[in-house]
Amino acid sequence: MELDEKQQALLRMLPGIDHILELSKKEPDFENVPRSVLLLSARKVVESLRAGIIAGNPTVAENDLTDSPVLEKTKDTVKKIMTLNLKRVINATGVVVHTNLGRSVLAQEAAGNLLAVATGYSNLEFDLAKGERGSRYSCVEEILCEITGAEAAMVVNNNAAAVLLCLETMARNKKVIVSRGELVEIGGSFRIPDVMAKSGAILKEVGTTNRTHIKDYIGAIDGDTSLLLKVHTSNYSVVGFTASVTLKELVELGSKHRIPVMEDLGSGTFIDFSRYGLMKEPTVQESVSAGADLITFSGDKLLGGPQAGIIVGKRDVVDSVKKNPLTRALRIDKLTLAALESTLRIYRDPEKAVKLIPTLFMLTAPFNLIKKRADKLFKMLAKINNPALSINLADMSSKAGGGSLPLLDLPSKCIAVKIKGLSPNTVESNMRENTPPVIGRIEDDSFIMDLRTVQEDELNIIKDAIAGILIRNV
Ligand SMILES: *Cc1c(COP(=O)(O)O)cnc(C)c1O
Repeated sequence: MELDEKQQALLRMLPGIDHILELSKKEPDFENVPRSVLLLSARKVVESLRAGIIAGNPTVAENDLTDSPVLEKTKDTVKKIMTLNLKRVINATGVVVHTNLGRSVLAQEAAGNLLAVATGYSNLEFDLAKGERGSRYSCVEEILCEITGAEAAMVVNNNAAAVLLCLETMARNKKVIVSRGELVEIGGSFRIPDVMAKSGAILKEVGTTNRTHIKDYIGAIDGDTSLLLKVHTSNYSVVGFTASVTLKELVELGSKHRIPVMEDLGSGTFIDFSRYGLMKEPTVQESVSAGADLITFSGDKLLGGPQAGIIVGKRDVVDSVKKNPLTRALRIDKLTLAALESTLRIYRDPEKAVKLIPTLFMLTAPFNLIKKRADKLFKMLAKINNPALSINLADMSSKAGGGSLPLLDLPSKCIAVKIKGLSPNTVESNMRENTPPVIGRIEDDSFIMDLRTVQEDELNIIKDAIAGILIRNV
């Protein structure tokens, strides 16, 4: 692209890196900033100015190249580089297990134990009773068996890893029978057929999308069949003219043919949500008592713990999974184990679990509690007393998220924000760029915050964020 004379003149006026570094020396804000960051920032500033000049029409003018705006630009760049990339955000989406926002919030106890284990040595692989090498998984195996009723348990990095490991162990180069209605795809491109292919298992689909019968499985069993797999359709529901085979029926069929049965539960819960007025979600305990040989589920979906893949089942089968060398590649780290053990211990008392595990608490939170929180925020925002700000309380519904309970609508209270002169998109992006970011959604021309997933101590931050937008823009 040809540059005109003006652009060429501007390019000659670009500040040098050394000049910016020289300016920075006099700037008290930069006192504790590492030189490498200053250098990187200076380069970024010059690069962006150069790009602006070359792009021409609008962007960079002569004024932008003088010391004061260049220094301001450098300050902004330094600030961006110095703040953490992964940080806490406020989830005002109402989606409880929000995949993009870190899925589960750990219970205080779990976070405390994680911190203790992280900042000191631990008996991760040391048997304190015997004074010799121990197993990394022993801290959670017993309690997993205690809660679920299973004979044996183990844990890996996530549920996708658990499924891969189990299939690789049980069915490499052999056939696995799955219903066509259960060939699930979940977010992050996890697809049952693809994971199966990676594990070396050969997929044998049976039935149709909406109806699969026991005779379909019977017809597909042959000498090469190594596993009957049931996959919980965790993120969708087939409704209407449907039929599926229960886990119990599969277990009966499997035992007749001496073929093990595995269930991938996905979300995996220890709590029967129907007891709390929510939809029924199959529990891990039910799958264990139905007699599945292997059951896999996530640690950070409905369980509300850290990211982990949990495997429970019959002892001999779980033992053979443990012996698979892939286990080493998929192993769980000590911080996760610390958080997982604490979370699991809370489940010994289900009533306590529903209060102390934030995921469960938010899912089962009574409407009145959310309404109270919404009213409180409403009053705080009203006190800003700015005529450009319009706020409304709205009855809307929240979602479980995380590919769980897809049909569930949880009645919730939201606050709808409009700011005169600003589009809802601008309000949304300002809230998103707040420190800490506040993530909501846009609906009906308003910025919507669902109070189900907002913590009490976050209300003030939200108020300040809105007040800040008003001061800057109105
Ligand atoms: C979510 C899910 C997985 C993957 O679990 P991650 O913990 O995300 O690895 C596997 N199978 C099903 C059915 C799921 O819902």
